[in-house]
Amino acid sequence: MNQSSVLLKINQLCKSYENRKILENIAFEVKSGESIVLMGPSGSGKTTLFRLIIGLEMPDDGEIYLENRLVSSAKESIPPFQRNLGVVFQNPALWPHMNVLSNILFAMQKKDTKHIHEFVDLVIDEMEIRPLLKAYPSRLSGGEARRVSIARALASRPRLMLMDEPLTNLDTALKDRMLEMIKRVTREFETTLIYITHDETESRYISDKCYRLQNGTLTRIEVGNRHCLSSDKLP
Ligand code: ADP
Ligand code: MG
Repeated sequence: MNQSSVLLKINQLCKSYENRKILENIAFEVKSGESIVLMGPSGSGKTTLFRLIIGLEMPDDGEIYLENRLVSSAKESIPPFQRNLGVVFQNPALWPHMNVLSNILFAMQKKDTKHIHEFVDLVIDEMEIRPLLKAYPSRLSGGEARRVSIARALASRPRLMLMDEPLTNLDTALKDRMLEMIKRVTREFETTLIYITHDETESRYISDKCYRLQNGTLTRIEVGNRHCLSSDKLP
């Protein structure tokens, strides 16, 4: 795909809950291959925007296009599984009755070419989860479960990856390692990324292109060019 082609386009998106406006005339676009960060205080509507993009909510007004195809408007919505998106929720949301490998393969049913299995192998190594493949989610640590949920999202080679605060509640050292992994893997697999966080260190590390959501509106902000991790600041 042409690197500069527009993958996601959002037009004048509006969403209210119980007559309270959460999102007002949100508009932005993401080009193929870009990583963008979406910031904003707690309660500003980040997860609402995420759920609209993945198709779990319908807008009151406005449109969402994926590769020029209308996928969401007030009148129609393409279901989430037809959007070919990789999704990492704030909570890893693994299937408790399936082991790690089944969790990953389940996400890519019907796509059984050799090429994809080689790719899954690579994802498993990149996310350092090979020793965990037979384990069930209940015995995974927080960091392990998140690595599995990221691997699961990458396994189907989504055209767009969305992560909603994927590193919340992890200790600093683990967070730094996972940030490095996410950046390396999305670059290596040429994945377009929308990364939601309220943490400036994460935001600076993932991308220079950053938007802030506040009082229902979205503005582009400068995050500076210090791509350091929080542990780099320690003596
Ligand atoms: P963020 O992810 O930025 O913390 P959210 O998108 O989760 O914010 O929530 C934005 C606001 O919308 C909050 O005030 C939240 O309480 C409200 N909200 C979110 N989902 C619903 C819902 N299903 N029904 C009513 N209010 C909701
Ligand atoms: Mg949220």
